[in-house]
Amino acid sequence: MTLSGRINSLPISQTLAMAAKARELKQSGKDIISLSLGEPDFNTPTFIKAAAIAAINQNYNTYTPVAGYDDLREAIAKKLLRDNELSYKPSQIVVSTGAKQALANTVLSLVNPGDEVLLPAPFWVSYDAMVQLAEGVSITIPTTIDSNFKITPAQLEAAITPKTKLLFFNSPNNPSGSVYSEEEYKALGKVLEKHPQIYIISDEIYEHILYEGKTFSFANVPNMYERTITVNGVSKAFAMTGWRVGYIAAPEPIAKACIKMQGQFTSGTNCIAQRATIAAMEAPVSSINYMVEAFAKRRTLITDLLKEIPGFKLNNPQGAFYVFPDISFYFGKTIRGRKIANASDFSMLLLEETLVATVTGDAFGAPECIRFSYATSNDLIKEAVKRIKILLEA
Ligand code: PMP
Ligand code: GLU
Repeated sequence: MTLSGRINSLPISQTLAMAAKARELKQSGKDIISLSLGEPDFNTPTFIKAAAIAAINQNYNTYTPVAGYDDLREAIAKKLLRDNELSYKPSQIVVSTGAKQALANTVLSLVNPGDEVLLPAPFWVSYDAMVQLAEGVSITIPTTIDSNFKITPAQLEAAITPKTKLLFFNSPNNPSGSVYSEEEYKALGKVLEKHPQIYIISDEIYEHILYEGKTFSFANVPNMYERTITVNGVSKAFAMTGWRVGYIAAPEPIAKACIKMQGQFTSGTNCIAQRATIAAMEAPVSSINYMVEAFAKRRTLITDLLKEIPGFKLNNPQGAFYVFPDISFYFGKTIRGRKIANASDFSMLLLEETLVATVTGDAFGAPECIRFSYATSNDLIKEAVKRIKILLEA
C-alpha cells in the first residue's frame, strides 16, 4: 500500500498513544496506573447531561449549521464577555468537534507552505503536527524549569523572522501548568506590535483549572484583538472530553475561513453535544468549583510527593492538571539493567518497572522532562509515586 507522504511523515499523538498502551496493558490484567492522559476523572455535571437528554427527546437529530447553532454561538459570546471581558459577535464564533479541530481549522486556514510558526516549549503535542500538515515550519522557543517554563520578550523577539506567521500561546499550559501574568502577556504584546504580520492562537482551554493568580486572554492585550484567535472548549472545565465540543472566537475573515474548512471536512458539530454545551456556557463558573478544588488538592499532593524523589526537579504548576518534572538527573544512569539515555527511556522504565504510565517530555518539545496527569484519585496518585520511589531509591 502506498500511503501519502503527508500521513507517512505525520507523528502519532504521543498522549493518545501512551493512553492506548496503558489501556491495553490494563486489559491484559496488569495493575496499571495511568497518569498519562489529560482528562478529568469526574462525571459530566448532571445539569449538562439533562440538557443533552432533553435535546434527544426534542428530536435534535438533523445536520447542524456548519458554524454551530446560533443560540450556542450567542451563549459563547456571552461567556466570553462574562469570563474574559472579550466582546465578540456570534458571527465571529465557530463551534468545532473539540478544541483540537478548532486549532486545526485555524492552522490550515492561516499557514502557507514555508511559513514559520512559533511554538514556545513545552507545547501541547498536536500543535507541531498541525503545523506539519499545513506544510509550515515549527520554530521552537525553548524554556527550562528555571524560567518556570515561560518565554521572555527577548526570546520571542529573537525567534521572529519575516517569515513568521503565527504564535501558539497556551496558558495555563499543558504540560507545565505555568500561567503567564497580565504583565507578562503585555510585555510579549509589545514585541508583537512591531511585527503586524503575526497572528496569535491563544489556547485557553485550561482557563478555569487555575489555583493561583488570574488568567488573562491574549485578545485583551492592547492592539492584539484583531490578530488573536481565542480557542476554548468544554472538555476540561466541564469534564466533557468525549462530547467533542470546542470553539474559536476570531476576527470575522478567520472565522469565515474556518467555517469553509469545516464545511468540507466534518460539517457542523454533533447536535446533542452542542445543545448540552449551551447549558455549560450559561452555568456560573462556580458550578465547577468542586472539580477545581479537588484538582488543587491533588496538585499539592503530587508535587509534595514527587519532590521527595531524588533527582526530580519540579516547578510549581499554577493551573491545568499536569506536573512536569525535569528528570535529566537520570540520563546516563542504569536502572534495573536499563540504560536511561533520554526522557522516553525514563517514561518507558516507569511503565514497565512500576506500571505507571506517564508521557515523555519529547512529545512536548522538552526532552529533559516527563509529564504526569493528576486528574485521578488521591489513592492512585499516592500508590503511583510510592512505586516510583521504591524503584528509584533501590
Ligand atoms: N489544547 C490543549 C492545551 C489540550 O491539552 C487539549 C487536550 N484535550 C486540547 C487543546 C484539545 O481539547 P479538545 O478535547 O477540546 O479537543
Ligand atoms: N489534551 C489531553 C492530553 O494532553 C488529551 C489527549 C489529546 O487530545 O492529545 O493528554
